[in-house]
Amino acid sequence: MKRLSKLGKPGSKPNIFIIVSDALRARNLRLYGYETSTSPNLDRLAREGVVFLDAYATTDQTDPSFTTILSGRYPVTHGILRHGPEVTHEHVSTFVKTGTKLLPELLAKHGYVSFAVDWLDRWHKRGYHVYGTPSALMPRRILGRIGRAKSVVTRLLSAAPSWGAYRSLYRFFSRLGYSNDRLSPSIFDAALNLLRRGVRDGKPVFMLIHVWDTHTPFNYLPAFMVKKFYRGGCGETVEEMAGKIKNPEWRRVVLEYHLRGIRCVDEIEPRYNAAIYHFDAMLGLFIDELRDAGIYEDSIIVVTGDHGENLVRNGVFIGHGGLFQRVLRVPLVITAPSILPEGKRLRGYVQHTDLVPTLLGLAGIDSSGYIVDGVDVEPLIFDSRPVRGQVFAVSSTAPKRYALIEGRYKLVYSPSPRDAADKYGIWYQAPVELYDLERDGDDVHNLAESMPDIVRDMEERLREKLSALHRKRVSLILKSRPRRGGRGR
Ligand SMILES: [Zn+2]
Repeated sequence: MKRLSKLGKPGSKPNIFIIVSDALRARNLRLYGYETSTSPNLDRLAREGVVFLDAYATTDQTDPSFTTILSGRYPVTHGILRHGPEVTHEHVSTFVKTGTKLLPELLAKHGYVSFAVDWLDRWHKRGYHVYGTPSALMPRRILGRIGRAKSVVTRLLSAAPSWGAYRSLYRFFSRLGYSNDRLSPSIFDAALNLLRRGVRDGKPVFMLIHVWDTHTPFNYLPAFMVKKFYRGGCGETVEEMAGKIKNPEWRRVVLEYHLRGIRCVDEIEPRYNAAIYHFDAMLGLFIDELRDAGIYEDSIIVVTGDHGENLVRNGVFIGHGGLFQRVLRVPLVITAPSILPEGKRLRGYVQHTDLVPTLLGLAGIDSSGYIVDGVDVEPLIFDSRPVRGQVFAVSSTAPKRYALIEGRYKLVYSPSPRDAADKYGIWYQAPVELYDLERDGDDVHNLAESMPDIVRDMEERLREKLSALHRKRVSLILKSRPRRGGRGR
């Protein structure tokens, strides 16, 4: 296999890798106190860098979250408030009119070459030299031309008896042209391939790698990998559980898509753990390649989840909708051997909005000309100084639902019961909820009625936050409007 060559030259900018594992929540990682070891390679990466113990997503769905991770702006500011087909023309138009830029666009002015392995497409692909899925990026050989071959190979792979056999089979079929756009073996292979082919003249590289192993369905995993985490037991079948879901459409989606191939509710979290383990193993191989090529030392590597995952919350599967702690608390590890300290575990709120200003800061790039909602978290990293007093999040699955965390309290607020209704129709959520996160880390016990003073204060500050963001959005639109001349409206 052709080796990677060293990318950056001494004195040049650091390479930047953002690796996002979709729906990876913090609580199932040893780094965040989970009792089972699901991610030995991420643990190692974290020992060589910094871990943010109180890292939060800004929303509960992929499209708005990715736009935030790469722009440094909250969904309310950049305008992408929903996911997939629910993203309207108006959302994208706000994104454009606010002059929102994505990290590769900001880095292009500083000599970076940018790549992404991702399939979200649409506005996400702005600013990259190459953006695509493994099947678009990898050369199509024999298997790519045979329609049913892929599904046969996928079945063969899932029957692999051991890790070594799985990896060897994957390598063999990859050489014949097999790829799976959702799974980390293909995604990291495509990323390495891009690095081998696309590096130019020692220019620094930015790369986004978006992996879906940890997003439902978890039905591709070989049996030996599931066995590592699932010791049997079946208290309730997924059909019985789905019977509690009131919305028939969502019930169908849960059974036919999210939990496809899973028989028991007790199997869901172990399978999620196995999916983390699967991603983590490929992450380890990728990082080893960077080390062997001498790239690791000159790079900043970020690993996070775009949002978490409820899995089975209160006895019902609801995926990653809602502003619950299981959804908002994401892992965030940043490793940069030549820039950052090693082995720091940092307390103090940070959000995905903070990534762009922090990465630009670490790369020594003046970002004062581009307005973000986030903050550069270097004072937290180097001096343990808190950088933000609040966490703010907006739901993509309810019409108007917001969360504000300050200190130990979390307010979840909707202007009316109608605005609070989630699309799953699973359980009633009050328009106003207050949680004490020190005592109730899983935000189950609503204290809103018993603590009206705290609710009133936090509601006030949430309204201030929202109006400040709306004002900012308007001023960004006015600012990026062409001043004069030009045709059209
Ligand atoms: Zn996602």
